[in-house]
Amino acid sequence: MPNQEQLRYTLKEYFGYDSFRPLQQEIIDSVFNGDDNLVIMPTGGGKSICFQLPAILLPGVTLVISPLIALMKDQVDGLLANGISAAFVNSSQVEQEQQEIYQQLLNKKIKLLYVAPESLSFLDTILTQVELSLIAIDEAHCISSWGHDFRPAYTQLGYLKKKFQNIPVIALTATADKATRQDICNQLNISDAKQYLASFDRKNLSLEVRPGNKRIEQIINFLKDKPNDCGIIYCLSRKTTEMLADKLQQQGYNAEAYHAGIDHQKRSKIQEGFINDTVQIVCATIAFGMGIDKSNVRWVIHYNLPKNIEGYYQEIGRAGRDGLPSHTLLFHSYADVVQLQKFANMSGNQEVQLAKLDRMKQYADSLSCRRRILLSYFGELIEEDCGNCDVCKNPPSIIDGTIIAQKALSCIARIKEEEPIGTVIDVLRGAQNAMVLDKGYQQLKTYGIANDIAWRDWQQYIVQLINQGYLEIAFHQNNKLKLTELSKKVLFQGEKVRLANLAEFEKIKEVAQEQINKAKKLDLFETLRRLRLELAKEADIPAYQIFSDASLRDMEKLRPMTDEEFMQVSGVGRQKMKNYGHQFIKAILDFSSEKTKAKRKANKNKGDSHKETLKLYKEGLSVEEIAVQRKLAQSTIFSHIMKLHQSGENIDLKQFVSKEDIESIRKAKEELDNPDALKPYFEHFQEALDYNTIRLALAVLEDDA
Ligand code: ADP
Ligand code: ZN
Repeated sequence: MPNQEQLRYTLKEYFGYDSFRPLQQEIIDSVFNGDDNLVIMPTGGGKSICFQLPAILLPGVTLVISPLIALMKDQVDGLLANGISAAFVNSSQVEQEQQEIYQQLLNKKIKLLYVAPESLSFLDTILTQVELSLIAIDEAHCISSWGHDFRPAYTQLGYLKKKFQNIPVIALTATADKATRQDICNQLNISDAKQYLASFDRKNLSLEVRPGNKRIEQIINFLKDKPNDCGIIYCLSRKTTEMLADKLQQQGYNAEAYHAGIDHQKRSKIQEGFINDTVQIVCATIAFGMGIDKSNVRWVIHYNLPKNIEGYYQEIGRAGRDGLPSHTLLFHSYADVVQLQKFANMSGNQEVQLAKLDRMKQYADSLSCRRRILLSYFGELIEEDCGNCDVCKNPPSIIDGTIIAQKALSCIARIKEEEPIGTVIDVLRGAQNAMVLDKGYQQLKTYGIANDIAWRDWQQYIVQLINQGYLEIAFHQNNKLKLTELSKKVLFQGEKVRLANLAEFEKIKEVAQEQINKAKKLDLFETLRRLRLELAKEADIPAYQIFSDASLRDMEKLRPMTDEEFMQVSGVGRQKMKNYGHQFIKAILDFSSEKTKAKRKANKNKGDSHKETLKLYKEGLSVEEIAVQRKLAQSTIFSHIMKLHQSGENIDLKQFVSKEDIESIRKAKEELDNPDALKPYFEHFQEALDYNTIRLALAVLEDDA
């Protein structure tokens, strides 16, 4: 069983990460222990590493059952890019391709073999001839007819454990409910499996809900500070997806509509474009996103209210898989609620559907931390408010809403609880339309008693009243508003009602948006992103398979200038460093020198940085003193000195390194396999000599040679 150090080393070498995410290490340990495991982690939680890392270290092959061919290819490509040997077998391959893979398997050349459950029978013979080390069953909820992704072929998988009794099985899914969990273990014959249930909290997703008026305008504004970020807009109808894509195209965005009515070929093209960063925005019905393993979806908008929290959470979960901050925005409109109620009423299990919709509505209307509501839906309680939802960021100020509530409730009483929300508001505001006048509502005492409150605000207030139980909607009677026991307390017993102050709420939001708009700029990240896109196009692979956005952000922060430094970047393993390090380092250097050039231009008198260092050096200051005076790192000053030396300045490098160190390095240079890189020296001396010393000593040796 590998020790901690080996696991960490493998994690960095192959995946480029410095530390495990919660539960990953425990699960990996359990795999090496030979246990069966059931892993439940939200989308983006990092399930893959739980079997991919053991696969690298285990002696034989790891068999991975995966439901979608597209996803499979993606994962295999990702593994290959990280220098891990992997292959897939499915029905799209010709006989010869499969034979080649079998041969590689027999030659122990493949660590991970992906297969769709339907194609598993192809492998019957070969699996008895190779050394099998682990069986991973991805998207394991497909086995359960409880869920929505049921795949009949998954139900056959139970035979694997029977046939390979001593081989550990690891089943993975993002579906949390208990019935499904039990079903997975039973059907896979792994009833003793250790269960690992990760938190469903996705802290990097900000949650925001806004009233659904002027949605298109709001979306265009929303996009202003995200000119290059990819995102998905979920809509209820095909028509909306097309209208929206059209509007966004007019604004110059690369947006596409995606729904089941579009032919298959075009749909795959759009999906591919999105994966490859050439299509920036997809306006889709819920069909889109399943099986897309794109880590840099930066935002998800729900143009319409989703019908339940499960669906909503899965859809927003497609944003920010790379762990970087990502935005989610939900538009909440009363018309959507009515529409969804109609759907629910038409469905088989109406009551359940309506109850689920109700929870969704409570979420959207909430005046307290939204993440708490989401997580509590999944049975998880958090200790503190999240700080990353709109309610936490701009807590609504509470006003005494007693008068507002009394006006609304007495109006509803006077129209005999016979009208839906729209008409109630019309009456309150004294509207002159036929609906009101025909019924003689203008005669009522409450007609026009509250025309000082805007129509939209009335809608919000009434929704708040519904949420607090002061009103109910009679779904079966054309959504008429009905009074409740609580409303009587307000009308007759002087109960105080607290409402969120809408006016203030809007104002704070505008200020926040302004601040965001100010912060935007074209930066190194964007430069790196463009390079990534270029390389991806050249190699015809998805951009995120080169590096994730998270890796680019890390490069932006660390600004690596050497191979060793580049290896420090999160998500950079050995293979990726070899393949791309050079180009990215060059881009960073170019960017930095552009920046310096710009600075120089702006401030000509200051002269260049090296000269400044040289001047101080000539004045007799030590490297340490120069660093302090110039507010730069000593290593930077050393690099200046090296450059000055190279460019022929008369600087004696020997004063900076001891004779002993030079001598040690000279010996190492003869012994090392790769004496031109710095890292081998660093490791050879077990980090006892720092990079500056090594660099300086090598330069001295060069001079002497
Ligand atoms: P899931 O299959 O659970 O949806 P993935 O396995 O695709 O999630 O992982 C989601 C993202 O998180 C990927 O970009 C992956 O490389 C990254 N990731 C996984 N483990 C780590 C880790 N320990 N440190 C940093 N990033 C990680
Ligand atoms: Zn919150």
